[in-house]
Amino acid sequence: MSKQTIGLDSQVYDYLLSVSLREPEILQKLRYETANHPRANMQISPEQGQFMRLLVQLLGAKKTLEVGVFTGYSSLSVALALPADGKIVACDVSEEYTAIARRYWQQAGVADKIDLKLAPALESLDQLLATGQAGTFDFAFIDADKENYDGYYERCLQLVRPGGLIAIDNVLWSGRVANPQIQDQSTQIIRAINQKLRDDERVTLSLVPIGDGLTLALKR
Ligand code: CA
Repeated sequence: MSKQTIGLDSQVYDYLLSVSLREPEILQKLRYETANHPRANMQISPEQGQFMRLLVQLLGAKKTLEVGVFTGYSSLSVALALPADGKIVACDVSEEYTAIARRYWQQAGVADKIDLKLAPALESLDQLLATGQAGTFDFAFIDADKENYDGYYERCLQLVRPGGLIAIDNVLWSGRVANPQIQDQSTQIIRAINQKLRDDERVTLSLVPIGDGLTLALKR
C-alpha cells in the first residue's frame, strides 16, 4: 500500500534513492507503466525490490515462492537475482494484472524461471504441499489479500526449508495498524498476524520498516 518507504520525508527518501538505488532498466520500465495503473499502490517500492534481490542472493536461493504477483515487479526483481537454474512459483488470481507481469518476464528473459499459478493461492500452496514440496523453498514473499495472510503464512512455513526466509508485506499498513481508532477487517487481520509472529518460536523475526513494513521470518 506504499510505493515508497513510509515515515521518511521526501528529501530523505530522495537522498536514500540517489545514493543506493540500482534499478535495472526493465524494472524501471515496469514501475513507470504500473504507476498509471488504478491500483498502482499495490506495487512494491524500488528500494524494497532491491532489498529482496539482496536477500535472495544472501540466501543463495534457487527456489522461491510468491503469493500475490500483481504486475510483476517483485517477481521480476527476484527472478533477476536468481541463478540461471532458479525457479519461482508465483500465485495470483488475476489474468489481467499478470498479463502485464508476463510481458515483462518475457522481455527480461526470465519467463522460463517463473511458474505462474492462476488460482486462489491457498489452493496452489496446498497443491505444492500435496506434491511433496514441503521444505524445498528457500524464500517466500507474501503480498496478497490480507484476509488470508495467516493461511499463506502457515503454508509457506511448511514449504520453506529450515534456514529459509518468509517475507510478509504491508505489515505496517500505512501506519493504520498503530491507530486504535481504525478497526476495519484488513487492519485487524494484519494486527493479529503481527502479534502472532512476535511470539512465534518457529521463526527468528525482524520487522523492517521498508516500503509499507516488511516482516522477515527465518524458519528455525
Ligand atoms: Ca504490498
